[in-house]
Amino acid sequence: MTVEPPPPTLRLRIDESALAANWRALDRLSGSARAGAAVKANCYGLGVETCVPVLRDAGCRDFFVAHWSEVTGVAAHVAPERIAVLHGAGNRAEADYARAIGARPVIDSLHQAKLWTESGGGPCHLMVDTGINRLGIRPDKAGDPVIQALEVEVLLSHLACADEDSAMNAHQLDAFRAVLPQIRHREASLSNSAGIALGPQYRFDLTRPGLSLYGGVPRSELAAHIRQVAYPEAALIAVKTIRAGEHVGYNATFTAPRDMRVGTVSLGYADGILRAWAGASLRHEGCSIPILGKVSMDMVVVNLTEAPNLQEGDWLSLPYALPEAAAQTGLSQYELLTVLGNRFG
Ligand SMILES: *Cc1c(COP(=O)(O)O)cnc(C)c1O
Repeated sequence: MTVEPPPPTLRLRIDESALAANWRALDRLSGSARAGAAVKANCYGLGVETCVPVLRDAGCRDFFVAHWSEVTGVAAHVAPERIAVLHGAGNRAEADYARAIGARPVIDSLHQAKLWTESGGGPCHLMVDTGINRLGIRPDKAGDPVIQALEVEVLLSHLACADEDSAMNAHQLDAFRAVLPQIRHREASLSNSAGIALGPQYRFDLTRPGLSLYGGVPRSELAAHIRQVAYPEAALIAVKTIRAGEHVGYNATFTAPRDMRVGTVSLGYADGILRAWAGASLRHEGCSIPILGKVSMDMVVVNLTEAPNLQEGDWLSLPYALPEAAAQTGLSQYELLTVLGNRFG
């Protein structure tokens, strides 16, 4: 007999219809291009198992991960040749694995291009670095024989400043356009979530939204189209009254000004609720429930003054609308998603 553990005291509710609606909105906003999906880092922390089938059923056909270790989780739901691995194949083991499993490496350097061809070649994608100086070949290497030898399906580049009104955007667009006729390819792809909002000239054949699928709003133009997807919730695991003058938490940073009812919530920085959340408020049915003192690894203590009827086992929600949560904590919307831990049910 196997003994099942009891349900966890924290959960990450995923609004699957919002996720599907966000992909459809980004696909529509991509105009004549189709939208793919960045599903790296376990769908930005929200779970490949939950999110990839929703994206696939919404109509998404192109999936991007960063690491080879991320392929099998996605390939359980979609054809491997529709999965692109952004870090490319940098050694023989990765190139052999790519070919065996059928996923596409995004070739990121002359070294990778040479290795790919020498290890057997075949269809691949190619990243051209138009200014972010991260991964990708420099545009002036387009004519190199090792690049010309590749069988390129999608020619990609990546915008550094798409979430800002920066001159970099037009510079990168021009550099990308200039390289397209120099390398044989089937399709072109430049824009991430924010890039989709920069205008039709940025969309090409395929867009690669990530953040906005999961509720992120990197540019105000997207705000009306994007819905919140991730809702962290946690249970009260203790409720008590503390006396005026007593302290709460590590380093005793909160001192009770009067006798007060407080609760301990099963949510801490090991779950991704970093100490930057100190001073924020949780919610229960419209009541604001402020965090008192420092965030611990596995818990926070909250002020139950406004919600006197709450008891052990009741659930609180963490306000996780990403633009507002980013303003509250100083964390980026990307960090807020990907930092979420693995103890959520
Ligand atoms: C992560 C990533 C994306 C998705 O970017 P978002 O800003 O999350 O939409 C697209 N393309 C590349 C190359 C990426 O690394």
